[in-house]
Amino acid sequence: MTPNMKQIHVPQGNSATDGHRARTFIKNLRVLTPEGTAGRPKFIHADLLIAGNRIEAVYVDGSQSQKEFASNMDADLIIDGAGYLAIPGLINVHTHAAMGFFRGLGHGHTNMIENFLFPAEKALTPELLEPLSWSYLITSLRAGVTCIGDHYYMIDGVGRALERLGMRGFIGETIADLGGAFPGWESWTKARDAIQSWNFSNRIRPVVAPHAADTVSSKMLRDAAQFARKNDLTLHMHLSQTTGELKRVREQDGMTPVQKAFACDALWERTLAVHMVSAREADFAELRTSGATAVICPASQIIYEHLAPLENIAATGVYWATATDCAASNDGSDLLNDCKWMGLLARDRKISHETFEPSALLASVTSTPARALGMTGQLGVLQAKSLADIVFLRDDISMRPAFDDVRNLIYSAGSSGVEHVMIDGHWRLWRRELCSVDEQQLTLAFEQAVQEIMRRTGLKH
Ligand SMILES: [Zn+2]
Repeated sequence: MTPNMKQIHVPQGNSATDGHRARTFIKNLRVLTPEGTAGRPKFIHADLLIAGNRIEAVYVDGSQSQKEFASNMDADLIIDGAGYLAIPGLINVHTHAAMGFFRGLGHGHTNMIENFLFPAEKALTPELLEPLSWSYLITSLRAGVTCIGDHYYMIDGVGRALERLGMRGFIGETIADLGGAFPGWESWTKARDAIQSWNFSNRIRPVVAPHAADTVSSKMLRDAAQFARKNDLTLHMHLSQTTGELKRVREQDGMTPVQKAFACDALWERTLAVHMVSAREADFAELRTSGATAVICPASQIIYEHLAPLENIAATGVYWATATDCAASNDGSDLLNDCKWMGLLARDRKISHETFEPSALLASVTSTPARALGMTGQLGVLQAKSLADIVFLRDDISMRPAFDDVRNLIYSAGSSGVEHVMIDGHWRLWRRELCSVDEQQLTLAFEQAVQEIMRRTGLKH
């Protein structure tokens, strides 16, 4: 009898290592596919065949290909997935994972970034970065996040933490020459050198990460954008993230942050423009024309200033992604929960519900960020040839009645249904437990690193 996902221990035999493309066949699932009506994804009864680190086939129930495969069952491991949903691994495209140490400290500060974050960040060391990332990454994985877009300092530490957990990341060393924790032209020289001598696995890839429009000069921004375009990399930056940034850029450059980014040739389909809190409708329209993606982090924006004008997203049709930002200004890393809030806040503002309907919310953490990362068809979708980043959720009573599965997923089940997670063909979470690392040991290392950073900064809790 085929073992069911509920019964077995961590499945063996799915390793993509040693050049052996082991094949895992998971049958009787309900799989989220992109082929619903009106371009909306929908859950269908299907089987998944995973070979090495990719999905080889999605066999829809009753199809000829399913029958053909069933006649010889050419797989190393066969699992019965009845009672489970399969969705693409979620992409949290704006994080600062190592800022897990600020959790709970960000509330009630005015000018938090300048008065609180920058001084504390000066106390960071390269050794502290890896353990400081554990809390955010582990809770992300448990929330169904398989890939992050991280933007921080001494990014090697986050890269090492991602490698150890087997997660995927597009990570960028923050650069700035006019402000921030470590301003100077050398921040860009160092970041560029690090990209050119990149030494991580294929799961961890570099991005170019200017800090923001007020902390980066036009010269640096133009140079960084040119480099990113030439090397086919994503440009990930905060843009119009506060009213203070808008004011400073107006004073320094006589234009809005978005206009500055546009003038520096820094907006195209590989640009992640994070926050847009102080952006006007004309700025969103400019972003729409460029093909760049606005990244909205609802909890974070509300805690540190206010929510970005969602009505401008609806009015301009700009590409948009949902993200969590960091623990300093969100506390949590539950991406589906932030999607739910996006939907509710849009409703509260009486914004066209089509822009923020459930399948759009889901796209904002799957296919849309994948596009901005240059990974369309590879990530954020379950189809033949895509990378095997798959989240398996319990298809239980929280998903019933099944009139609108995607709505149920966002508004009812949420990440509490996440049970197993596969990344790049490897099981990384099984029954909500980490597969290849000792969580207790990592929690201890995280707590020790937090104590050290608190000692160094003099912050009290
Ligand atoms: Zn941020």
